[in-house]
Amino acid sequence: SVRAGIVVTGTEVLNGIIRDSNGPWLSERLREIGVDASHIVVVGDRPEDLLAALRFLAAESVALIVTSGGLGPTADDLTGEVVARFQERPLELDEALFGRIAEILRPLLSRWPDLDREAVLRSNRKQALVPAGATVLEPVGTAPGLVVPPAAGDGAGPTVLVLPGPPRELQPMWRAALETGAFQAAVVGAGTFEWRIMRLFGIPESEIAETLLVAERDGLALDPLEITTCLRRGEIEIATRYAPTDAAAYAAFEAYVARRHGPLLFSTDGATIDAQVASLLLGEAGAGGVGDAAGARPARTVATAESCTGGLLAGRLTDRAGSSAYVLGGLVVYSNAAKVALAGVSSELLERVGAVSSEVAEALADGAIARLGSDVGVGITGVAGPGGGTPEKPVGLVWVSVALRDGPRLTRRLSLPGNRADIRDRTTTVALHMLRR
Ligand code: ATP
Ligand code: MG
Repeated sequence: SVRAGIVVTGTEVLNGIIRDSNGPWLSERLREIGVDASHIVVVGDRPEDLLAALRFLAAESVALIVTSGGLGPTADDLTGEVVARFQERPLELDEALFGRIAEILRPLLSRWPDLDREAVLRSNRKQALVPAGATVLEPVGTAPGLVVPPAAGDGAGPTVLVLPGPPRELQPMWRAALETGAFQAAVVGAGTFEWRIMRLFGIPESEIAETLLVAERDGLALDPLEITTCLRRGEIEIATRYAPTDAAAYAAFEAYVARRHGPLLFSTDGATIDAQVASLLLGEAGAGGVGDAAGARPARTVATAESCTGGLLAGRLTDRAGSSAYVLGGLVVYSNAAKVALAGVSSELLERVGAVSSEVAEALADGAIARLGSDVGVGITGVAGPGGGTPEKPVGLVWVSVALRDGPRLTRRLSLPGNRADIRDRTTTVALHMLRR
């Protein structure tokens, strides 16, 4: 298979000040075009370290190296120079590109009249230096990207695709790079693959491992399928890659998982639980995903009253564009006083059964409906830790209640593993799955 390496540059990434999102993003995009990422290497803004990373990946015989960052006008931005050296191609000033960069900067310069015009243009001249024979990718910000072919002559090494660090620049420029002849030449021979994801909820990862074993024993041809499973936000994802000619093997595998795990398999089309809940609340047909016998349901509005999750569920629900069509609002009722004042929970009840109880979760769901006028209410109360646990109410104990106005309700007691962040996040996942029912 065709392999590629990724080099993420930036001292701020290396130091953990900024979390790398480019490496994983590029890795996913590569996989989509049938190229396997072999390594993601993170280096600081030291040219020797970048050069060493490029040499390391070349020794791993990757066909392509994608770099992120270090294309800016400042002195610590050295990727272009280092890649030119690595590919043994001299830097040449691209006059036309320099003109276009100056054009991009003109409105900026007029907005900051105090800037030293000459100095700015001088430092941006650096961005117009292009390794001989490289293809230039038009800048989305001010930094152009580059596709730099292997050193002239031997033609054996990797092609290097050089992209800027800011994700909003890197992503469109990646798409532009795909169109270039130099990029296509580098990844020639990459197979085209189908890529499918099954999602399951309410089942341990070990059981999926067992399913895979048993499937083979039952004579299923899993060999042509490249299957990876992972546990994410309390759900199991089975991601499978296969050649288009092996579609039948995948169909058989999917049917097998569906038979064995029934409704626990909630998505086979890539839809996340967040997307499914959104379409369900919008009243879209088939929104329930796999095995949704109920079909279309009426559109409904939702409101939340959250204690231990502090609004994370409302945040997750409103993460989607267009969610104003079905999310009315959410109450963050962390203290008992807030539960009383905002959600109308009775202080007598709080006193009698305690805040972390099925009764209070239900009162919160009812309170959300009453106070915000929604069709569906979600109440959440629990112990996220690390402190505050007792033998009767340990850390990880969470009550979630989902109520329909004047209708049935579903209340669940959860005991969730993990740290505070895990517990809060897992709670929102469970609440979404309860909303889907
Ligand atoms: P610029 O012209 O903006 O300096 P650049 O190509 O030199 O572009 P960097 O200096 O490496 O890019 O990074 C600029 C900013 O882009 C960083 O401060 C950070 O906010 C964001 N960024 C860079 N690399 C990453 C990354 N791997 N993941 C997420 N964000 C990143
Ligand atoms: Mg920079």
